[in-house]
Amino acid sequence: MASVPSRPVAQAHSMTTSDLSALSRPMRLTVLGATGSIGKSTLDLVSRTPEQFEIVALTAQSNAQALAALARQHRAKLAVIGDENCLDALRDALAGTGIRAAAGEAALVEAAEIPADCVMAAIVGAAGLRPTFAAAAQGKRVALANKECLVSAGHVFTAEIKKSGAELLPVDSEHSAAFQALAGADPEAIEKIVLTASGGPFRTWTREALETATPEQALKHPNWSMGAKITIDSATLMNKGLELIEAFHLFPVSHDALDCVVHPQSVVHCLVSYVDGSVLAQLAAPDMRTPIAVALAWPNRMTSPTEKLDLARLGSLTFEAPDESRFPALRVAKAAMRRGDTGPAVLNAANEIAVRAFLDRRIKFLEIAALVEETLDAAERQGAICPASCLDDILAVDDVARRLAEDSLSRY
Ligand code: NDP
Repeated sequence: MASVPSRPVAQAHSMTTSDLSALSRPMRLTVLGATGSIGKSTLDLVSRTPEQFEIVALTAQSNAQALAALARQHRAKLAVIGDENCLDALRDALAGTGIRAAAGEAALVEAAEIPADCVMAAIVGAAGLRPTFAAAAQGKRVALANKECLVSAGHVFTAEIKKSGAELLPVDSEHSAAFQALAGADPEAIEKIVLTASGGPFRTWTREALETATPEQALKHPNWSMGAKITIDSATLMNKGLELIEAFHLFPVSHDALDCVVHPQSVVHCLVSYVDGSVLAQLAAPDMRTPIAVALAWPNRMTSPTEKLDLARLGSLTFEAPDESRFPALRVAKAAMRRGDTGPAVLNAANEIAVRAFLDRRIKFLEIAALVEETLDAAERQGAICPASCLDDILAVDDVARRLAEDSLSRY
């Protein structure tokens, strides 16, 4: 077995300390990114047992009406909108409710800092870094959907978690599955962690057909309903690369012990192989409310309306190797993971630019991976791929990478 480095967030699978269900009062919950796909699924679960939760703060970027409606429904204490131009609309929509409204980046951080038992970190992209770091510094539970904290700032983020004593519960379905299949495992006994990928809408497309794939086609995910950015990442398989990087920081295994397999039914979310030949898998219908429920209720279980699995009706579950020649983003992401230092931060920033450019029809589908790879090469030449010791270091590299990616983009 590959050597197993000690990594602080092994507590993601060995954590046994807190039991939020033992609280004699409702769980105080903050949802960062409340109006998004994960945020809405979280609040859907909350609305089924409202007596078990007290909503502290909800945030969004610009969707003031939806944020106000959620804040009213869940009687939040604070509603924060990232875009300061939307503050008046938020205030108007909350008039007479007693719910405090605020706006801007500092207010997003403040929302994450208000005492809560659990913060659902579900802002999309690197924009989620500062608020999620602030949530981690509270030393309570962080239910982590925002994958950029681990991808761009893995070592720094896990150090923050360790320093504050916070609990990190993964919300990404594959990592939630690994977390469950690893519960209590001796790191020395883990041989491999295999994440599954649906393969996205283009799983069976030829490379020639991929040349002309449109945003509309890429946004039609066969199994999962998610935000636009992650849906495009699923179509390119970049998402699986990002998830391998997340897994590297969450679980006590080396790069070599991480792998992925395409599983079009999205029923098995992760498989953990042990040295004795046992393979433990977690299965669930593809509905994010299951991993969200795990993160909220762990080590207990809460009810979720996720469709129950009927294996006889499903009939068969199939698996195939990912094809990195048709989906080069996976190869590029793996290389960035192995490169380490700020390589994954550059990968993530460049990919955010590339996905936006694809959605805006400035580049073609296969050019997403090409643009990201060019940016990684340019960043390496400039010495921007280097060790980082704090969030500011990461954000500085994120900035450089975005500029390099924009430069490359102007040549397409
Ligand atoms: P969405 O795009 O659906 O929602 C994003 C949320 O973040 C919205 O509330 C949005 O507000 C807010 N937001 C957007 N930009 C900013 C910004 N600059 N500053 C502050 N808030 C902002 O995303 P998802 O819910 O799909 O994904 C959230 C995170 O979870 C991502 O990191 C994703 O990779 C991860 N994830 C998602 C999964 C899914 O099934 N959706 C599965 C696994 C991980 P507004 O509505 O006002 O724009």
